[in-house]
Amino acid sequence: MRHCALMDGKEAPRKAGGATTRTRLDRGRAALGPALQLVHTGRAPTRAVLTAELGVTRATAGAVAAELEALGLIRVDAHPGAAGSQGRPSHRLEVAGDGPVALAAQVHADGWRAALVGLGGRIVATAPGCETVDADPAKVLGSVVDAGAELLRETGRRCVGAAVAVPSAVAEPEGLALAPLHLAWPAGAPVREIFAERVRAAGITGPVFAANDVNLVALAEHRHGAGRGARDLLCVATGHRGVGGALVLDGRLHTGSSGLALEVGHLTVNPEGGRPCHCGSRGCLDVEADPLALLTAAGREPGPVVSLLRQAEDLIRTRYDDPAVRTATEALIDRLGLGLAGLVNILNPDRIILGGLHRTLLETDPDRLRAVVTDRSLWGRQSGGVPILPCTLDHNSLVGAAELAWQPVLDDPIAALT
Ligand SMILES: [Zn+2]
Repeated sequence: MRHCALMDGKEAPRKAGGATTRTRLDRGRAALGPALQLVHTGRAPTRAVLTAELGVTRATAGAVAAELEALGLIRVDAHPGAAGSQGRPSHRLEVAGDGPVALAAQVHADGWRAALVGLGGRIVATAPGCETVDADPAKVLGSVVDAGAELLRETGRRCVGAAVAVPSAVAEPEGLALAPLHLAWPAGAPVREIFAERVRAAGITGPVFAANDVNLVALAEHRHGAGRGARDLLCVATGHRGVGGALVLDGRLHTGSSGLALEVGHLTVNPEGGRPCHCGSRGCLDVEADPLALLTAAGREPGPVVSLLRQAEDLIRTRYDDPAVRTATEALIDRLGLGLAGLVNILNPDRIILGGLHRTLLETDPDRLRAVVTDRSLWGRQSGGVPILPCTLDHNSLVGAAELAWQPVLDDPIAALT
């Protein structure tokens, strides 16, 4: 059996007594998950901080760190870091650079991407596949899993599990892509089951997950990016087509009773001259504030070579002096602001983060967007404005997907890995 510092009685109590020993060892094992989460999210850069955050003795924290290192998950570096509790330099802690990875996959309106993601949200390798997304989910999910399996072979990493981000609400508990409005997939496609079949067929073991892409953006940004430290984090993003939202409350995604909460794309933001939406309504955020809406409003032809997101972002970045582009951008900022104002009144978030093209809109004219949100929302005015920040992570849907696959390890490292 593998050496296990927390189970071989290294941290024997000073006073004898079997029950006390058991309690301490159980406490040590119970601290493994919380300890790993602290290192994973960068909140415990040293063993001294880990000791304080866990509220355990130095000996317990030392044993916990040693066990996580033995599992190949973190590195304990004896080089002097911050001063420890007794004035001595403390050991530095970081995620293992060569440790296991999660297989993360993303399908979006313009193609797919596979990635291997280590602890700390670190992308180890990635493979884009820009192809027209097939109407058969099994085909595109097969392509993305094959690309991920190839990355695993190339890198020789151990895989802890797999997860896919899809541009659709995902109904739980079955894992159905209920509204893949911008893919040609049939509504209600059993996306998690299909993905799991492809993962198993590729010889990859471990738990398998599927979730809405913006939910995963929010999760990734909350743990590693612009959402760190927020208690009621609202995330709104437009990737390639459509608009999604997500809410992280006290560190956990709020998904509603069956996974379908925060469908913010169908808030009405242009009731007068709004264009028809796939949902049957008119003037929804989904069709009024996505990349296609910007290109259309600016009088540009969409596509066909690059992705709509890249085309829209390039247009704003390189042609903002063109009055048509500026007017279109301002119109999108106003519609987005109107949608955010309604959400602020309902959800009372302490921070808003914006992803995809919405991040570009914020960076282009932050004052205009913040003014619309403040002026049009009751709580926005009263609190002097909710902080609105751009997302900061690259490939945050993929990093978020990896968080799902890593979660069993973060909850109980020994149970998940041995
Ligand atoms: Zn709609």
